[in-house]
Amino acid sequence: MTAKIIDGKVIAAELRARVADEVARVKREHNLVPGLAVVLVGSDPASEVYVRSKHTQTQAAGMASFEHKLPADVSQADLLALVAKLNRDPAVHGILVQLPLPKGLNTEAVVNAIDPAKDVDGLHPNNAGRLAGGFEALSPCTPLGCIILTKSVHASLEGMNAIVIGRSNLVGRPLVQLLLNENATVTIAHSRSRDLPGLVRRADLVYAAVGKSEMVRGDWLKPGATVIDVGINRIPKDDGKTRLVGDVAYQEALAVAGAITPVPGGVGQMTVACLLVNTLRAACAIAGLPKPAV
Ligand code: NDP
Repeated sequence: MTAKIIDGKVIAAELRARVADEVARVKREHNLVPGLAVVLVGSDPASEVYVRSKHTQTQAAGMASFEHKLPADVSQADLLALVAKLNRDPAVHGILVQLPLPKGLNTEAVVNAIDPAKDVDGLHPNNAGRLAGGFEALSPCTPLGCIILTKSVHASLEGMNAIVIGRSNLVGRPLVQLLLNENATVTIAHSRSRDLPGLVRRADLVYAAVGKSEMVRGDWLKPGATVIDVGINRIPKDDGKTRLVGDVAYQEALAVAGAITPVPGGVGQMTVACLLVNTLRAACAIAGLPKPAV
């Protein structure tokens, strides 16, 4: 048996096209142009790549994109003043402060300063709390992408056994809440969990969000399981360059799983597409319009 490969590139492109259609509709019917502001502090090369791709994809979807680049030595007060300005700006419906922030800045204070209605990263405690309570919330983009990828294989996740490996605020915890909303039965595992292979073997749905190259082995998997690999790890190649691998031993898993996301070309593709979804949702909610059809 060889697993079906879940093509994040294709699914993300379809999602972006649906967002663009809805953006065109709200523009036509309500004269509303959703706007996303991205704040980049410092010049971390990986963050610069992400920010550029967010900018391009936001514009391609017909939304307004506002980029704010601040020097790495910006003061906490100046960064908070920019966030406050964006909170007040009626053209801005989504605010994303690219993380990680340079040392010396207080990430928690910055995240907490973002208007929860514009918190398209879903990291503000109001949104995290609402999600945990089962209420309508802006949810973090990577977990949203994981659910969409899973639903490309299973129309309903009801009653399925899911395991989420990793409990970060960015991925693991919100993913658990989204899976509960889908009526899956969820186990959350972390660095202190006992017998991880045994826990994984019971799962119909496996989400690996650890940050450890190929940690989840093929023989841990239940035959036919759906595997969503969130990990992005850079490992050295023989020629001195690097290549990306996930948290799952992909070749081994291919032979056992029913469906699997590749790295790259899986979850990573979905994250920015879901950021566009969140910006559109935030814009509609702020304008008092019904939830858009994406
Ligand atoms: P964190 O480092 O914040 O969290 C890692 C989690 O993995 C922790 O909960 C940790 O447990 C757990 N863990 C560590 N070692 C083990 C182990 N041996 N067994 C079981 N669990 C373990 O990472 P993130 O959640 O931010 O990211 C996870 C991965 O996803 C990374 O590779 C990151 O690059 C990638 N990522 C990909 C995105 C995408 O768009 N595709 C977006 C965001 C992240 P404990 O809590 O006990 O320390």
